[in-house]
Amino acid sequence: LHIVHIAVEMAPIAKVGGLGDVVTSLSRAVQELNHNVDIIFPKYDCLKDNFVKDLKLDRSYHWGGTEIKVWHGKVEGLSVYFLDPQNGLFQRGCVYGCADDAGRFGFFCHAALEFLLQGGFHPDILHCHDWSSAPVSWLFKDQYTHYGLVKTRVVFTIHNLEFGANAIAKAMTFADKATTVSRTYAKEVAGNSVISPHLYKFHGIINGIDPDIWDPYNDNFIPVPYTSENVVEGKRAAKEELQNRLGLKSADLPVVGIITRLTHQKGIHLIKHAIWRTLERNGQVVLLGSAPDHRIQNDFVNLANQLHSSHGDRARLVLTYDEPLSHLIYAGADFILVPSIFEPCGLTQLIAMRYGAVPVVRKTGGLYDTVFDVDHDKERAEAQVLEPNGFSFDGADAPGVDYALNRAISAWYDGREWFNSLCKTVMEQDWSWNRPALEYIELYHSARK
Ligand code: ADP
Repeated sequence: LHIVHIAVEMAPIAKVGGLGDVVTSLSRAVQELNHNVDIIFPKYDCLKDNFVKDLKLDRSYHWGGTEIKVWHGKVEGLSVYFLDPQNGLFQRGCVYGCADDAGRFGFFCHAALEFLLQGGFHPDILHCHDWSSAPVSWLFKDQYTHYGLVKTRVVFTIHNLEFGANAIAKAMTFADKATTVSRTYAKEVAGNSVISPHLYKFHGIINGIDPDIWDPYNDNFIPVPYTSENVVEGKRAAKEELQNRLGLKSADLPVVGIITRLTHQKGIHLIKHAIWRTLERNGQVVLLGSAPDHRIQNDFVNLANQLHSSHGDRARLVLTYDEPLSHLIYAGADFILVPSIFEPCGLTQLIAMRYGAVPVVRKTGGLYDTVFDVDHDKERAEAQVLEPNGFSFDGADAPGVDYALNRAISAWYDGREWFNSLCKTVMEQDWSWNRPALEYIELYHSARK
């Protein structure tokens, strides 16, 4: 199959959240199964272009009242066409955040289809994502199917239904197949009026993580490479480095890590509660978070200052986006807390497991599908041929968090051997794209029938 992704986020060159990770790692997994994958991407001025290899000017064309230069390069082994309209739309120093984002990305989607048409491409599948490349779905059906792209089918993936309801509704109508990023989230949103008319073509496929990109045995940001065989030493060294780096007390304490965008979705009140509860239970807590909303950011700056004076040796809030530090936290933490109010898939709990950190999560969406409580979910785990791998809770309130966090921290204090074997178990589980990539390929085939 020839699959073309049209997307506006891509790790590591322009990653904002999980969508960027998925575009890169799903593409790599599908390519490894011998399919042909291209990505069409905006040439932002803020691209991390040290990750782009062999960048060359490929061609240029005129469309939409401007010249569009097309650059070709390789990112993580993937072929990427960068569209560079000479009208300055992607010279804004950011991926999102402009008043005309919908217009900018609408232009990009249309320009991408024009590029495919004018370039004589005949992909089997156009894969578009969320509101930002949703226009591909209806522009294609409206204007392009009768040209050389007659055999092309459109797959639309919803990474987060919270953003861009109108665009998502329209894309759902025109796409040949639609997916979202876990089975449980698919069920949770099935009653939404944007989704419900299209259930016959709507599927939940869990995201994976790229085991080469997230690999504690081969990670420049952590001190000692480790696998499940030496997980205890590897994580001990990472914990020490994390404590030193952040000026925390260097001690053998249970470390709870939180790595997140600080938005309502991620359960801000639960995060705050968990920080205090961890301190009460004699743990250490490290939060790495960035808040797009300045009120939330200010609120956390105040909390960080308060904690700095009251519990400076056991709590640190780092209020920025810092990929290298995130690696050290995944490696150095005993637990990664993900108390989301809703979570389409969630990658943090999967990355946590790859680094032998035990997930503590709220049971929603993809968190429900990937984390199986050691006390309650044995049967559900067995049905997936898995061992239980974490701690979870239902309610979106303080008692809910306490229920999971208390059990987690007690397990750490009262049964270190058992806890260490749990770290080994979670590390050995396969949350890569191995299985989900096959499901996508099956879906691509079914879209063409
Ligand atoms: P979402 O896409 O809703 O933000 P996901 O769990 O799907 O949530 O993906 C989050 C990704 O972003 C993970 O790779 C996580 O490590 C990363 N991330 C989130 N916040 C930060 C941060 N402040 N610094 C570094 N990485 C972060």
